[in-house]
Amino acid sequence: MQKTCNRHARKINVNYIIGEAESRRGDEMEKIKCWMCGKEIDMPYTAKELEVLKDPFSTDDEIFYILDKREMSAKRVYCPECNETHKEHYEMTVKEYCKLRNEIMFERALKIFEKQDLNIYDYRDASIAVKQYMQDSYEPCNGTEYVAFDSADEVATAIVFVANEIKIKVHAKIAKHEVDFVIPSMKVVLEIDGELFHKGKEKKESRRDSEIRQLLGKEWEIIRVPTKYIHRNIELLPENVRSLKEERQKVRKVTGGYIPDTYSRYKS
Ligand SMILES: [Zn+2]
Repeated sequence: MQKTCNRHARKINVNYIIGEAESRRGDEMEKIKCWMCGKEIDMPYTAKELEVLKDPFSTDDEIFYILDKREMSAKRVYCPECNETHKEHYEMTVKEYCKLRNEIMFERALKIFEKQDLNIYDYRDASIAVKQYMQDSYEPCNGTEYVAFDSADEVATAIVFVANEIKIKVHAKIAKHEVDFVIPSMKVVLEIDGELFHKGKEKKESRRDSEIRQLLGKEWEIIRVPTKYIHRNIELLPENVRSLKEERQKVRKVTGGYIPDTYSRYKS
Protein backbone atom coordinates (compact mmCIF):
# COMPACT_ATOMS: atom_id res chain seq x y z
CA MET A 1 0.00 0.00 0.00
CA GLN A 2 1.30 3.44 -0.97
CA LYS A 3 2.00 5.81 1.89
CA THR A 4 1.55 8.90 -0.29
CA CYS A 5 -2.20 8.96 -0.76
CA ASN A 6 -4.62 11.71 -1.69
CA ARG A 7 -6.21 13.15 1.45
CA HIS A 8 -9.59 13.68 -0.25
CA ALA A 9 -9.64 10.11 -1.41
CA ARG A 10 -8.79 9.10 2.13
CA LYS A 11 -11.79 10.99 3.54
CA ILE A 12 -14.13 9.15 1.17
CA ASN A 13 -12.52 5.83 1.93
CA VAL A 14 -12.34 6.07 5.71
CA ASN A 15 -15.90 4.95 6.41
CA TYR A 16 -15.45 2.05 4.07
CA ILE A 17 -12.25 1.08 5.86
CA ILE A 18 -13.83 1.25 9.31
CA GLY A 19 -16.82 -0.65 7.93
CA GLU A 20 -14.54 -3.27 6.50
CA ALA A 21 -12.64 -3.48 9.77
CA GLU A 22 -15.86 -3.87 11.73
CA SER A 23 -17.39 -6.33 9.29
CA ARG A 24 -14.34 -8.45 9.83
CA ARG A 25 -15.33 -8.82 13.50
CA GLY A 26 -16.68 -12.34 13.74
CA ASP A 27 -14.13 -13.70 11.28
CA GLU A 28 -12.04 -16.57 12.59
CA MET A 29 -9.11 -14.20 12.79
CA GLU A 30 -11.03 -11.62 14.82
CA LYS A 31 -11.86 -14.09 17.58
CA ILE A 32 -9.51 -14.68 20.44
CA LYS A 33 -9.38 -17.08 23.38
CA CYS A 34 -9.96 -15.70 26.86
CA TRP A 35 -6.53 -15.98 28.45
CA MET A 36 -7.99 -17.49 31.61
CA CYS A 37 -10.92 -19.79 30.67
CA GLY A 38 -10.16 -20.34 26.97
CA LYS A 39 -13.65 -19.27 25.82
CA GLU A 40 -13.70 -17.66 22.34
CA ILE A 41 -14.49 -13.95 22.49
CA ASP A 42 -14.58 -11.03 20.05
CA MET A 43 -11.26 -9.31 19.85
CA PRO A 44 -11.92 -5.74 20.96
CA TYR A 45 -10.51 -2.66 19.24
CA THR A 46 -8.41 -0.56 21.54
CA ALA A 47 -9.25 3.15 21.90
CA LYS A 48 -5.96 3.91 20.14
CA GLU A 49 -6.82 1.63 17.21
CA LEU A 50 -10.25 3.21 16.79
CA GLU A 51 -8.66 6.66 16.89
CA VAL A 52 -6.37 5.77 13.98
CA LEU A 53 -9.20 4.09 12.02
CA LYS A 54 -11.43 7.14 12.35
CA ASP A 55 -8.75 9.73 11.68
CA PRO A 56 -9.12 10.97 8.06
CA PHE A 57 -5.42 11.79 8.02
CA SER A 58 -4.36 8.22 8.81
CA THR A 59 -2.40 6.69 5.96
CA ASP A 60 -3.34 3.37 4.33
CA ASP A 61 -0.24 1.88 5.88
CA GLU A 62 -1.37 2.90 9.36
CA ILE A 63 -4.90 1.50 8.84
CA PHE A 64 -3.82 -1.78 7.29
CA TYR A 65 -1.14 -2.17 9.93
CA ILE A 66 -3.94 -2.17 12.55
CA LEU A 67 -6.08 -4.63 10.58
CA ASP A 68 -3.14 -6.96 10.07
CA LYS A 69 -2.05 -6.68 13.66
CA ARG A 70 -5.48 -7.94 14.75
CA GLU A 71 -4.44 -11.37 13.62
CA MET A 72 -2.27 -11.47 16.72
CA SER A 73 -2.51 -10.01 20.21
CA ALA A 74 0.42 -8.55 22.09
CA LYS A 75 -1.70 -8.48 25.25
CA ARG A 76 -3.66 -11.09 27.16
CA VAL A 77 -7.40 -10.76 26.52
CA TYR A 78 -10.00 -11.78 29.10
CA CYS A 79 -13.74 -12.41 28.82
CA PRO A 80 -15.72 -9.97 31.04
CA GLU A 81 -16.12 -12.51 33.89
CA CYS A 82 -12.46 -13.53 33.90
CA ASN A 83 -11.41 -9.89 33.58
CA GLU A 84 -13.20 -9.16 36.88
CA THR A 85 -11.73 -12.23 38.60
CA HIS A 86 -8.23 -11.48 37.37
CA LYS A 87 -8.45 -7.83 38.47
CA GLU A 88 -9.69 -8.74 41.95
CA HIS A 89 -7.07 -11.43 42.38
CA TYR A 90 -4.28 -9.12 41.28
CA GLU A 91 -5.40 -6.33 43.60
CA MET A 92 -5.46 -8.75 46.54
CA THR A 93 -2.00 -10.00 45.64
CA VAL A 94 -0.59 -6.45 45.48
CA LYS A 95 -2.18 -5.65 48.85
CA GLU A 96 -0.66 -8.73 50.44
CA TYR A 97 2.67 -8.02 48.74
CA CYS A 98 2.76 -4.46 50.11
CA LYS A 99 1.87 -5.65 53.60
CA LEU A 100 4.67 -8.20 53.55
CA ARG A 101 7.06 -5.69 52.01
CA ASN A 102 6.33 -3.29 54.89
CA GLU A 103 6.94 -6.04 57.45
CA ILE A 104 10.22 -7.10 55.87
CA MET A 105 11.43 -3.49 55.60
CA PHE A 106 10.63 -2.91 59.27
CA GLU A 107 12.37 -6.12 60.33
CA ARG A 108 15.47 -5.22 58.27
CA ALA A 109 15.50 -1.72 59.72
CA LEU A 110 15.69 -3.12 63.26
CA LYS A 111 18.47 -5.48 62.15
CA ILE A 112 20.44 -2.41 61.00
CA PHE A 113 20.32 -1.22 64.63
CA GLU A 114 21.12 -4.70 66.04
CA LYS A 115 24.31 -4.96 64.00
CA GLN A 116 25.70 -1.85 65.70
CA ASP A 117 27.04 -1.38 69.20
CA LEU A 118 24.03 0.32 70.76
CA ASN A 119 21.14 -0.35 73.12
CA ILE A 120 18.25 -1.35 70.86
CA TYR A 121 15.82 -0.65 73.72
CA ASP A 122 16.56 3.06 73.35
CA TYR A 123 14.75 2.73 70.01
CA ARG A 124 11.82 0.58 71.11
CA ASP A 125 9.23 3.37 71.49
CA ALA A 126 10.36 5.10 68.30
CA SER A 127 10.16 1.88 66.32
CA ILE A 128 6.62 1.25 67.59
CA ALA A 129 5.66 4.77 66.48
CA VAL A 130 7.24 4.28 63.03
CA LYS A 131 5.55 0.91 62.61
CA GLN A 132 2.23 2.54 63.46
CA TYR A 133 2.97 5.24 60.88
CA MET A 134 3.74 2.56 58.29
CA GLN A 135 0.35 0.98 58.94
CA ASP A 136 -1.56 4.27 58.98
CA SER A 137 -0.14 6.53 56.31
CA TYR A 138 0.76 5.02 53.02
CA GLU A 139 2.00 6.00 49.62
CA PRO A 140 0.80 4.34 46.43
CA CYS A 141 2.61 1.14 45.54
CA ASN A 142 1.96 -0.34 42.10
CA GLY A 143 -0.98 2.02 41.74
CA THR A 144 -3.41 0.15 43.98
CA GLU A 145 -1.91 -0.56 47.39
CA TYR A 146 0.52 1.28 49.57
CA VAL A 147 3.90 1.38 51.28
CA ALA A 148 5.15 4.30 53.38
CA PHE A 149 8.90 3.87 52.83
CA ASP A 150 11.05 2.71 49.94
CA SER A 151 13.72 0.88 51.92
CA ALA A 152 14.83 -0.44 55.31
CA ASP A 153 17.41 2.36 55.35
CA GLU A 154 14.61 4.92 55.24
CA VAL A 155 12.72 3.13 58.02
CA ALA A 156 15.88 3.05 60.19
CA THR A 157 16.44 6.77 59.49
CA ALA A 158 12.87 7.55 60.56
CA ILE A 159 13.34 5.54 63.78
CA VAL A 160 16.56 7.32 64.77
CA PHE A 161 15.06 10.79 64.23
CA VAL A 162 11.85 9.92 66.10
CA ALA A 163 13.95 8.50 68.96
CA ASN A 164 15.76 11.84 69.15
CA GLU A 165 12.40 13.64 69.22
CA ILE A 166 13.16 15.37 65.93
CA LYS A 167 10.07 15.83 63.77
CA ILE A 168 10.31 14.53 60.21
CA LYS A 169 8.12 14.55 57.14
CA VAL A 170 8.40 11.41 55.03
CA HIS A 171 8.40 11.57 51.22
CA ALA A 172 7.36 15.20 51.15
CA LYS A 173 6.70 16.93 47.86
CA ILE A 174 8.52 20.18 47.17
CA ALA A 175 7.00 21.53 43.96
CA LYS A 176 7.52 18.69 41.46
CA HIS A 177 10.26 17.02 43.48
CA GLU A 178 9.71 14.26 45.98
CA VAL A 179 12.28 14.12 48.75
CA ASP A 180 12.96 11.32 51.26
CA PHE A 181 12.72 13.42 54.44
CA VAL A 182 12.09 16.99 55.44
CA ILE A 183 13.39 17.96 58.89
CA PRO A 184 11.78 21.36 59.62
CA SER A 185 13.57 22.06 62.93
CA MET A 186 16.95 21.60 61.22
CA LYS A 187 15.89 23.20 57.95
CA VAL A 188 17.23 20.15 56.22
CA VAL A 189 16.05 18.00 53.33
CA LEU A 190 17.53 14.57 53.87
CA GLU A 191 18.07 12.16 51.02
CA ILE A 192 19.17 8.58 51.54
CA ASP A 193 21.39 7.43 48.68
CA GLY A 194 22.13 3.89 47.61
CA GLU A 195 25.58 2.68 46.66
CA LEU A 196 25.09 3.50 42.99
CA PHE A 197 25.82 7.14 42.52
CA HIS A 198 27.12 8.11 39.10
CA LYS A 199 28.93 11.28 38.21
CA GLY A 200 26.30 12.31 35.67
CA LYS A 201 23.49 11.69 38.10
CA GLU A 202 25.28 13.71 40.77
CA LYS A 203 25.33 16.76 38.48
CA LYS A 204 21.68 16.36 37.57
CA GLU A 205 20.69 15.97 41.21
CA SER A 206 22.56 19.06 42.29
CA ARG A 207 20.46 21.10 39.84
CA ARG A 208 17.40 19.54 41.46
CA ASP A 209 18.86 20.39 44.88
CA SER A 210 19.36 24.04 44.02
CA GLU A 211 15.77 24.19 42.76
CA ILE A 212 14.56 22.80 46.08
CA ARG A 213 16.71 25.28 48.03
CA GLN A 214 15.37 28.15 45.97
CA LEU A 215 11.85 27.15 46.96
CA LEU A 216 12.54 26.51 50.66
CA GLY A 217 14.99 29.35 51.32
CA LYS A 218 18.68 30.05 51.69
CA GLU A 219 18.87 28.70 55.23
CA TRP A 220 17.88 25.22 54.02
CA GLU A 221 20.32 22.51 52.95
CA ILE A 222 19.89 19.22 51.13
CA ILE A 223 21.96 16.58 52.87
CA ARG A 224 22.65 13.30 51.09
CA VAL A 225 23.57 10.35 53.22
CA PRO A 226 24.99 7.21 51.59
CA THR A 227 23.37 4.13 53.12
CA LYS A 228 26.76 2.78 54.27
CA TYR A 229 26.81 5.44 57.01
CA ILE A 230 23.41 4.31 58.21
CA HIS A 231 24.78 0.79 58.47
CA ARG A 232 28.00 1.98 60.12
CA ASN A 233 26.79 4.38 62.81
CA ILE A 234 23.12 5.15 62.81
CA GLU A 235 23.18 6.61 66.33
CA LEU A 236 25.25 9.55 65.11
CA LEU A 237 23.05 10.27 62.10
CA PRO A 238 21.00 13.22 63.51
CA GLU A 239 24.14 14.83 64.96
CA ASN A 240 26.10 14.34 61.73
CA VAL A 241 23.30 15.73 59.60
CA ARG A 242 23.11 18.78 61.85
CA SER A 243 26.86 19.46 61.76
CA LEU A 244 27.09 18.81 58.02
CA LYS A 245 24.30 21.31 57.50
CA GLU A 246 26.12 23.94 59.59
CA GLU A 247 29.35 23.23 57.72
CA ARG A 248 27.65 23.75 54.36
CA GLN A 249 26.10 27.01 55.52
CA LYS A 250 29.55 28.22 56.66
CA VAL A 251 31.05 27.32 53.28
CA ARG A 252 28.31 29.27 51.54
CA LYS A 253 29.10 32.35 53.64
CA VAL A 254 32.70 32.23 52.43
CA THR A 255 31.98 31.45 48.77
CA GLY A 256 28.91 33.64 48.45
CA GLY A 257 26.45 30.77 48.20
CA TYR A 258 28.49 28.30 46.19
CA ILE A 259 29.17 24.76 47.46
CA PRO A 260 32.25 23.07 45.94
CA ASP A 261 31.65 19.49 44.70
CA THR A 262 33.77 18.07 47.51
CA TYR A 263 31.20 19.26 50.05
CA SER A 264 28.26 17.64 48.33
CA ARG A 265 28.62 14.31 50.12
CA TYR A 266 28.10 13.10 53.65
CA LYS A 267 31.30 12.78 55.63
CA SER A 268 31.79 11.08 58.99
ZN1 LIG B 1 -12.79 -16.21 30.57
